[in-house]
Amino acid sequence: MSLMTAEEYRDSLKKLRRTIYFMGSRIEDVVNHPATRPHVNAAAMTYEMALDPQFEPLCTATSHLSGNRISRFTHIHQSTEDLVKKVKMLRLIAQRTGSCFQRCVGFDALNALFGITYETDQKLGTKYHERFLQYLSYVQEKDLMCTGAMTDPKGARHLAPSQQKDPDLYLHLVEKRKEGIVVRGAKAHQTGAVNSHEVIVMPTAAMGEADQAYALAFAIPADAPGLLYIFGRQTNDSRKWEGEIDQGNARFGTVGGEALVVFQDVFVPWERVFLCGEYDFAGPLVDRFASYHRQNYGACKAGNCDIIIGAASAIAFAHGVAGASHIREKLGEMVHLSETLYSGAIACSSEGHKTPSGAYFVHPLLANTTKLNVTRFYYEVCRLAQDIAGGLLATMPSEQDLRDPEIGPLIKKYLCPGTEASAEERIRLGRLIENMTCGAPLVEVMHGAGSPQAMKIILLRQAGLEQKMKLARRLCGIEE
Ligand code: SF4
Repeated sequence: MSLMTAEEYRDSLKKLRRTIYFMGSRIEDVVNHPATRPHVNAAAMTYEMALDPQFEPLCTATSHLSGNRISRFTHIHQSTEDLVKKVKMLRLIAQRTGSCFQRCVGFDALNALFGITYETDQKLGTKYHERFLQYLSYVQEKDLMCTGAMTDPKGARHLAPSQQKDPDLYLHLVEKRKEGIVVRGAKAHQTGAVNSHEVIVMPTAAMGEADQAYALAFAIPADAPGLLYIFGRQTNDSRKWEGEIDQGNARFGTVGGEALVVFQDVFVPWERVFLCGEYDFAGPLVDRFASYHRQNYGACKAGNCDIIIGAASAIAFAHGVAGASHIREKLGEMVHLSETLYSGAIACSSEGHKTPSGAYFVHPLLANTTKLNVTRFYYEVCRLAQDIAGGLLATMPSEQDLRDPEIGPLIKKYLCPGTEASAEERIRLGRLIENMTCGAPLVEVMHGAGSPQAMKIILLRQAGLEQKMKLARRLCGIEE
């Protein structure tokens, strides 16, 4: 079996020698630094659950390369059943973390590259797929966590990579050497970047001939020389230094812990290069990766909605209003929205198909619809949770005051809801709702896996408007 324990995962991160900046200082130990610790814990949950016999059937798979038992996060989908299992696994993990566990980005990058390297070789006679298989075996056998690096800083959005004033605004080739290539540029908002073992780089958009130097895909160890990480801020992140309750979800945090990753003339050996100048395949690689990742959002966000719905329901009980008809109505609406997201993720998986490489791919129209729904339904679930929880969400005293020998008893007296719940329980639930429904998590559901407009482009491309017009014309008698 090729599976790491959660502790081995944490230990393996300590061995990586990386340059990570946060708020003007270096982070030397991502496992124990308050800013990154929750995100490490969330990713560690993927390792923990894979070794739990209860979750093993969903969280592990049999490698089609080695026949070994591996983490599902390093598996190449061999059937629609695998795609469905992925969705079920993501919801299950999200129910335990209430946060992003980050490992799906690399998972989707592996699956996208598996298919695209095969198709590139078929068309151009290149040898990328064989190389990629070697790399995949390495990742599977070591049970590595990979971050998928796709989004370039992009500069002026109306200009192609090669038209930017600063050529580094899209990651690009600097030099080809006998042993490999040298690259420069950056990747923005990289989920799980500071607690992954490997960085898998892909292009960010479809490209033309002039952008050949930007059509790159490759993998490097997370501590490769020349890589620099700038860890991003999140709403309420300073609370990580202040105690536990005010963070809402102190163990796992909110969202994925994103970083700007800068590539300062990084060397990549040829055996880890999977696309180098084949610009025709940049767009298909982006689409493949994006649809796999948009599939996920109906699962991990439904899992997070389960927590929000549970917290809203529990706070309604604490307030003594759980039986009120308008509360029941709102909770029912939240369940409806969340299960609609999940249905989309299951549907795009069940309707998946085999690609020429043998790997299975989701139904892109349904996967993109799922993610587009997330950008609306998740907001509505959060709005309803805030409605149920009440204005206290924005006015609660701090944990320090709750613990203060003089002030604490006053808070406990005046914020006691008068039911079986204590003031502290009410505050804890309120803080969980506050941290899951405000700020960074909302922006993440809007733009993670691509902004709504990116989905609409694919919806219109996939919708078959011509065929729909034909159907309408036929019914109203314009066409036979
Ligand atoms: Fe996985 Fe969801 Fe986080 Fe994306 S947002 S990495 S799908 S948990």
